[in-house]
Amino acid sequence: MLHKVLQLAGKLLGRNKLSILIYHQVFAEPDPMRPSEPTAAVFDWQMRLLRDYFTPLSLDQALVHLNNNTLPANAVCVTFDDGYLNNLTVAQPILAKYGIPATVYIATGFSSGSNMWNDRLMYLFAEPERQRLQLDNEVVQLADFAGRRSKAQHWLKQLKYLPVAERLVKIEQFYQQNNAAEQAPLMMNPQQIKQLAEYGVTIGAHTVYHPILKVLSPEQQQQEISHSKQHLESWLGKPVVHFAYPNGGFGRDFDETAVAIVQQAGFSSAVATDWGVSTSQSSPFKLRRFTPWDTTALKFHARLANNMRQSQPL
Ligand SMILES: [Zn+2]
Repeated sequence: MLHKVLQLAGKLLGRNKLSILIYHQVFAEPDPMRPSEPTAAVFDWQMRLLRDYFTPLSLDQALVHLNNNTLPANAVCVTFDDGYLNNLTVAQPILAKYGIPATVYIATGFSSGSNMWNDRLMYLFAEPERQRLQLDNEVVQLADFAGRRSKAQHWLKQLKYLPVAERLVKIEQFYQQNNAAEQAPLMMNPQQIKQLAEYGVTIGAHTVYHPILKVLSPEQQQQEISHSKQHLESWLGKPVVHFAYPNGGFGRDFDETAVAIVQQAGFSSAVATDWGVSTSQSSPFKLRRFTPWDTTALKFHARLANNMRQSQPL
């Protein structure tokens, strides 16, 4: 009953508005270091809710509707960032079960076995048998998962805006200092990306090494953006025309320089991580996205309806 009310509210509030949901991982089992990421069970009810009360569209369909001002009520796209293997093994079967189209944006530099810097850092804090970490000159005591999570978050923030090469050196140094072994690959390799595309999932680009574009020179930005497109096109044998800005905050993580480069590189859309919805007034190269983090269906639905109120173009 309340879902029906929210659906109606969405029809009134959300006329000609496009919601784009952003996910990263879907875990087969709960991950104590990432309690806010959905498990298969949570993702299952979320996708069922989208099927029952929303109009899920592929990104290509949605862009045509945005352009013609013909979006159906409660239009929604599902997207994933980075290219995690569990997008193929856990999320895709659920998407297929409910007939939900999706787009997965891939950082192509992590498709040959190495994990992303943030996951490598998290893993140092995650191993239950490790009781302490030596990071630079600091000794970090590790106990329960809540403590491990907040300490990991602190160090993630310290490293996030460092230049890519410097950050990588730091991570290498931390692994050496602690005699740590690397975690098994978390990201899809080119064959797995192709497999996902063959299941009907749209593949988009997300740079090569996932830098904060804004801190790079225009030439470096150009390389990161166009090389990821070329990698994916050679693996898939077809054009890749959608892009997601790493970290994705307009003004904070990317600016008009990146927007112009993305446009010139031959993409037809690009998504940010600024919350809200898109309308026909929005630039297709600055689409808003939103993460509903709720663990109950009603709150999830209410937050999605509420998110429709932010539709100012970026
Ligand atoms: Zn990302």
